[in-house]
Amino acid sequence: MSVVGFDFGNESCVVAVARQRGIDVVLNDESKRETPAIVCFGEKQRFLGTAGAASSMMNPKNTISQIKRLIGRQFSDPELQRDLKSLPFAVTEGPDGFPLIHARYLGEVKTFTPTQVLGMVFSNLKTIAEKNLNAAVVDCCIGIPIYFTDLQRRAVMDAATISGLHPLRLFHETTATALAYGIYKTDLPENDSLNVAFVDIGHSSMQVCIVAFKKGQLKILAHSFDRCLGGRDFDEVLFQHFAAKFKEEYKIDVFQNARASLRLLAACEKLKKVLSANPEAPLNIECLMEEKDVRGFIKRDEFEQISIPILERVKRPLEEALAEAGLTTENICSVEVVGSASRVPAVMKILTDFFGKEPRRTMNASESVAKGCALQCAMLSPTFKVREFQVHESFPFSIALSWKGPAPDTDNGGTENQQSTIVFPKGNLIPSVKALTFYRSGTFTVDVQYTDASELHIPSKISTYSIGPFQSKVGKRAKLKLKVRLNINGIVSIESATLLEEEEVEVPVSDEPAKEGRKMEIHDAPADSVPNGTEADANMQDADGVGSVSEKGSVPVSGEIPVQMEMDSKVEAPKKKVKKTNVPVSEVVYGAMLPDDLQKAVEKEFEMALQDRVMEETKDKKNAVEGYVYDMRNKLYDKYQDFVIESEREQLIAKLQEVEDWLYEDGEDETKGVYIAKLEELKKQGDPIEQRYKEFAERGAVIDQLAYCI
Ligand code: ATP
Ligand code: MG
Repeated sequence: MSVVGFDFGNESCVVAVARQRGIDVVLNDESKRETPAIVCFGEKQRFLGTAGAASSMMNPKNTISQIKRLIGRQFSDPELQRDLKSLPFAVTEGPDGFPLIHARYLGEVKTFTPTQVLGMVFSNLKTIAEKNLNAAVVDCCIGIPIYFTDLQRRAVMDAATISGLHPLRLFHETTATALAYGIYKTDLPENDSLNVAFVDIGHSSMQVCIVAFKKGQLKILAHSFDRCLGGRDFDEVLFQHFAAKFKEEYKIDVFQNARASLRLLAACEKLKKVLSANPEAPLNIECLMEEKDVRGFIKRDEFEQISIPILERVKRPLEEALAEAGLTTENICSVEVVGSASRVPAVMKILTDFFGKEPRRTMNASESVAKGCALQCAMLSPTFKVREFQVHESFPFSIALSWKGPAPDTDNGGTENQQSTIVFPKGNLIPSVKALTFYRSGTFTVDVQYTDASELHIPSKISTYSIGPFQSKVGKRAKLKLKVRLNINGIVSIESATLLEEEEVEVPVSDEPAKEGRKMEIHDAPADSVPNGTEADANMQDADGVGSVSEKGSVPVSGEIPVQMEMDSKVEAPKKKVKKTNVPVSEVVYGAMLPDDLQKAVEKEFEMALQDRVMEETKDKKNAVEGYVYDMRNKLYDKYQDFVIESEREQLIAKLQEVEDWLYEDGEDETKGVYIAKLEELKKQGDPIEQRYKEFAERGAVIDQLAYCI
């Protein structure tokens, strides 16, 4: 079983694997530790990761990046609209109100959902892990930002399914960093707690998390974030600065030229990195536009000056996190900084001033998330034995259930007022299960929604559940227990509904709660207090909460409804029997992929991956023919010289020339089979020569050996 952690960044991704001796970040095909989160669509195949980045300048319109910004967001989302302005590829609104990405692939323009494209990014990361482990990778743990909504979390799960991965957990990036930090610490206090602030500033967002460490455990005290504050904002500021300068000095307007804009932006990113280590830096681009070479220069002071509007935003998430944790900076023992955009010195200065202490970089800025995810995967996987360390994760949103029912104190449903109650408040432990009791006479619906949606600028409604049908006794309302689960991935769903019927009606009817919608009880189910993502409640069927993808659609109705009998222990003698009957629950999650579409996407990804593989193999075979031509030609004049007769050599040289010409003309774009056949054809003439040489060489070796023995 694979034990792998994936950090899919907005810009770059990191893959870490657990081996018996520890956690390693693995290298991609280009021997790099970071892989760009890029998918480039080509005429014959896709180019993923590093290969995709290589073609991004040549084929910008079909190179999809920044996918983490697009998944699980409505097209009308103002943040998405802002992001789209700087993306070079086409995105339109799909019929469901969600974005559709357009790219030219295999000779025609096709559309893909962001979830599908993320599936492609995952496929690439999966392949990287598989090549390193030399084994199939399925089980994994994937890092996600704390601010990912329910829908975005579902989209990540779907993308993982599309790529053939099975996440044991979606793990908050900052918690992953905290785990990678804490698990190796040998000096954690037994009773007291050590409070550490983790600050992650990545390409497009900033996340803060305050963690209380004790021996053998970590507890998340607070999360905060700015979804739109990251390294790319500094690039943008530099870009605007130089675009204006070049307009004045060189009379060129890069905004009129997509390629020039991309090149300037890339140069600004490089410049920003240089400024992290140097007090000033030049910017030179050859032939940027209208055949003009441009030259620029900026001092770090000036860069910081023009970045003030960005830098001013760094403080708010820090303040919010402290306030939520109920701590002051004096209570924070140390500040750990990760995320590569934190390398900007002005950012570090703000953090130092705010906390009153120098932030530390104990963790590798770009690898801590992937390593923490691999550790968490190892902890959840039976394959590995990991040091006992509990992770008490906290939920960043506040979730309520809402339903239509009679207003309080009205009798039997004359008015249909909307009622709601918070089931998982902000800071609730993850995972968690709550049970709610409803009294109803027929099928009813319940909505799951955010209570803080307007702050988050997202639609409040997450999903709607229809509970029923069920049979209630004539003239009475039935008692139903709904189990609501906040699973290990931070996804909320109504997992089951149970009809509770007392077999012998011994208690007077007036004891039964009677008013619909009012008499709802909320109980914390046992899973609430279970640390480390495991469930203790034996009644829970979905113990790790991972199966949410398959939970979509309708839960099987009618037919074999399992019935359990149980003694109600709360009732005085004579004891009554409580009959438990599962009631069908059907789910609609707004914006989530339907199971059929997910299945189709899995098949489509399989097809595209196959096409990529065939094209890679075709390239290999073509290279093999080309290689043979050059190699054989050289050898015929060198190593094999004494093993061919002149006419034979001439014949083969002519043949090699013919094949070489063919490779650059008619044979430039052939199928794998044709190249295999061509190589065979050449080998038919070349092999006898090679054979003669080999036999001679072997005889020589035997003679040498004999001579040595004598
Ligand atoms: P996110 O966490 O937002 O999803 P990510 O994980 O891909 O994105 P990181 O790899 O942590 O982001 O950070 C990438 C950002 O860091 C880029 O904007 C990059 O330009 C910036 N960056 C990298 N090195 C430096 C440096 N030396 N100085 C300043 N910025 C840097
Ligand atoms: Mg990151």
